[in-house]
Order: sequence, then C-alpha cells, then structure tokens
Amino acid sequence: MKKTVIIGGGITGLTTAFYLQELSHGEAEITLVESTPRWGGKITSAHERGFIIEGGPDSFMIQKGAVLELCHMLGLDDQLLSPNSTKRATYVWNRGELHPMPEGMILMAPTMILPFLRSRLISWPGKLRMGMEMLIPPNGKDDESLASFVRRRLGVEALEKIAAPLMAGIYAADPETLSLQSTFPLFPDMENKYGSLLRGMIMLKRVQKRRHEKRAPTTMTLRGGLQQLVDAIRTRLNSQNILLNCRALAVTVTGDRYEIALNDGSRIHADEVVFATPAYVTAGLVQEIDPLLASELREIRYVSTATVSLGFRLSDVERPLDGFGFVVPHIEKRRITACSWSSTKFNHRAPRDHVLIRVFLGGARAESVAEKDEAVLVQLARQELHATMGIIAKPVLAKSYRWHKANPQYEVGHQSRVARIDQIIASHPGLHLAGAAYHGSGIPDCIYSGVKAAKAITNNAPWNRNEIYDTLPAC
Ligand SMILES: Cc1cc2nc3c(=O)[nH]c(=O)nc-3n(C[C@H](O)[C@H](O)[C@H](O)COP(=O)(O)OP(=O)(O)OC[C@H]3O[C@@H](n4cnc5c(N)ncnc54)[C@H](O)[C@@H]3O)c2cc1C
Repeated sequence: MKKTVIIGGGITGLTTAFYLQELSHGEAEITLVESTPRWGGKITSAHERGFIIEGGPDSFMIQKGAVLELCHMLGLDDQLLSPNSTKRATYVWNRGELHPMPEGMILMAPTMILPFLRSRLISWPGKLRMGMEMLIPPNGKDDESLASFVRRRLGVEALEKIAAPLMAGIYAADPETLSLQSTFPLFPDMENKYGSLLRGMIMLKRVQKRRHEKRAPTTMTLRGGLQQLVDAIRTRLNSQNILLNCRALAVTVTGDRYEIALNDGSRIHADEVVFATPAYVTAGLVQEIDPLLASELREIRYVSTATVSLGFRLSDVERPLDGFGFVVPHIEKRRITACSWSSTKFNHRAPRDHVLIRVFLGGARAESVAEKDEAVLVQLARQELHATMGIIAKPVLAKSYRWHKANPQYEVGHQSRVARIDQIIASHPGLHLAGAAYHGSGIPDCIYSGVKAAKAITNNAPWNRNEIYDTLPAC
C-alpha cells in the first residue's frame, strides 16, 4: 500500500487529505501532521459574547468554484452567506476624511464618467491624467510592478489613492515590488488587447450589460465563520493518523521512499510527501534532498500582518457603517492599512445593537507595527479608529491576532521562479508542493492546489479510478 504524508494542517493540507481520502474511497494510507495544537492554519474564527471574530481570512472568492464545490461535498451549502448587497461602498481615507470610492469603479478603473468626475477623492489634474490613459500605448513588458503599471497608465494620484491601498491591501504588499502578471493578469491582458485599461473595462461592462448579467456577489463566507470549513473537513477525516503538535523537522530519501523526521524523535516513511507549509518552512524540510530547490523556495519573501477586532455598542459609533469599510493610502502615514466594517459586510457578526469593526496593520510597508504585542495593537487600533471614525468609547470586546511572516509576496519575477520550482519538484517523483506561495494565495487557490496534489497522487496509485476526476472542482 502506498503511503502519503501531508505536512501542514492549514486549509491546503486538510483539503489534500480530504480529497485523497475521497478519491481513494478511503483506501489511501494518509498521515497528516500539524505542528500547532489546532487545525486550520490562518483560518481561525472565535465566538465571543455573541460576536463572530475572524482572526485571518473572513471570506473567499467564489468565481473559481473550488470552495463552493468543497462546501457542497461537506454538506455546508445552507451555511454559505453572501455579503450585504445594499451597503457595498468602500471608502478611502484621504486628507482627514473618508471619501466613497466613486460609483462605477471596477478594481482601479473608472467606468462611469459622472460619478468619477463628481468625486472629491481625486484632484482635477489627477482626473485628467487618468482620462489620458486611453492615449498611452502598451509597453509590451512580460512583467512589471503594480506601481509601475498604474503610474505609467493612470498616473501617480490613481496609484497612491486607489490602486496601491486597494490592490496591494489584498497581498499586504508593496506595490513597487508586487508582480502584476502574478496578481492581476487581467490588467496587462486588457492593455494588450484593447490598447487601454479603461477601454477594456468599458468593453467588459458592455458585454455584461448585453448578457443582462446582474451584479452577483463575488465573495462569500460561512454563517458561523470560516472555521466551519476547517471543522467540517476535520470531522470527515479518518482520525487515526492526523496528528496535532507534531512538527516535521526534515525529509530525506531512504532507498526508493522518503523519511520524515518528527519532533518527538520518531520517523515515518512515505512514498508521497505533500508540503502544505509556507515556502520558507518547506525550504528547510527539503534542504538535504535538493539545496537548489530550497534556495529557490527561500527567495519567496513573506511579511507579517496583524488584525484587531473591536466590538462596540451601536450607540457608541456615531458614523453610520454604511459600507464594507475603508482603505488607507500609505501616503496618509497612518498606522493602519485598512478597516472592515465586519458586521455590515456580513450578517450574524455582532449581537443586537452592537457592531464589529476589524482593523488591519503591518504588511510590506509597515511590518514592524504587526510585530508589536497584542495590548499595544489594540491600543493602536483604538487610537486610529478615534482619528478616522471619531470613536472614543471603550470597546465591549477587543481581540487581536498577529500573523508572523504569514503573507507570501508575489514579487516581480514570481512566475518565472515558480516555473523553475515546478520544474525542480517534477524531478523528484513523490514530492508535491501546495499552498499559498505559488499559484495564488487566496483560499480557493490553496484548495485547488490541494486538490491537484491529491489528484497527482491518485494518478500513481493502484486505486486510481479516473471517473472520479469529473467531480473535482474546476479552477
Ligand atoms: C490576516 C489575513 C487575512 C486573509 N484574508 C483572506 C481572505 O479574506 N480571503 C482569502 O481567500 N484569503 C485570505 N488570506 C490568505 C489565506 O488565509 C491563506 O493563504 C490560506 O489560509 C493559507 O492556507 P495554507 O493551508 O496554505 O497555509 P497555512 O494556513 O499557513 O497552514 C500551514 C500549516 O502548516 C503548519 N506547519 C508549519 N510548519 C510545519 C511543520 N514543520 N510541520 C508540521 N506543520 C507545520 C502551520 O502550523 C500551519 O497550520 C488571508 C491571510 C491573512 C494572514
């Protein structure tokens, strides 16, 4: 019987184990090891005093299908929750005020003229410069930074006030190094196809209108928090060989198998090993097998972030929470990068007559802030909410999460590095890389990478039944 060891019990490792178990009808011999005392990795939801607090991710994109498919298999369909459809506004903190993002903005490009012209977020010279985008020819580069692309096409103001805080916020990244090709390939595609991003966005809108496509939600969550997904997978896994508090220390080759050394001094042998760990951890684990692979993996940089959730009495918050929250441009020199109005974004997040607000700190341009201790983070978050939203009341609940070196940075050249890594790993039969570091860092990408690893292992297995592949999520 072939044996698989999966290292890392975040959503990627759990998904790999689940699909492997499903694809093999329970015949696969699987061991899943997780170094901490809990499953889920960056996914963690707390239920306290009627609040549901997300420590890491709070939602997932649904276009890629993988999460919905997994939720369906786990019987979670009736737990899926869409965001509020009436209060979708996003605000930008600009010179002491919260300005709504103009209506009709798709990502960073305006597609409706009047709301854009009326907006006080961008100055008149800035608006003129954005309008000139249609006259700027494509530069034909393979990859460039988000900052270089936006500066070149839409100008400095659009970069600093819209694109950088909005786009880079997703990756906790520095827009000067964030690879456009690895994160928003739609933008260079539109530039090349239509000669202009604005023209591309307008065409996209027209097509959607012609097809009578309604504005459907692009993200979703689960009623009880994303931890529900983790718990549902966990209860479906055969619990014999899933080990918490069990750290993999090194992976080596012995004969035609792999040997995994664990922190309790034991060693397990496997034919297939899935690394569902951050790239820098995987680098240490494979050092002996392939130092070149290890050094490529170490080149994928990670940054630290933190979130602070504060619960208030509704009567203590004067400003109406009439949107999903706001982003803070780096040029504003504040200590937070964004703020989610969590209880407006999703229902069931706060008890009656209360609201839940979540603040983001750290990231590539302010990593040291995220490394401060938890009491300091709460204090910082309260000071920033006072300055930006006028909240002075003491919160009824405060909870912070520090994410040390948690966010992989898709820097310019990321795609070629990952292509080299994929090529090296292919030369080691039985080794598989999965997770946020390579082909997408969102939950759907992680799930899909786990499915792919499970499928690759099944391909080589005696219990391979190809027809099951039809049920795999398409990404
Ligand atoms: C603050 C924050 C907000 C986010 N928001 C969103 C969002 O809204 N939507 C979205 O789609 N994505 C979001 N993300 C990204 C997403 O959460 C992650 O990319 C995803 O959860 C990563 O899952 P993973 O299983 O690949 O890695 P992880 O969750 O990091 O899991 C890896 C696991 O490996 C374990 N491990 C490490 N070393 C070892 C070892 N030697 N032996 C055994 N186990 C080991 C770790 O303890 C961990 O549990 C967010 C991330 C952060 C930090």
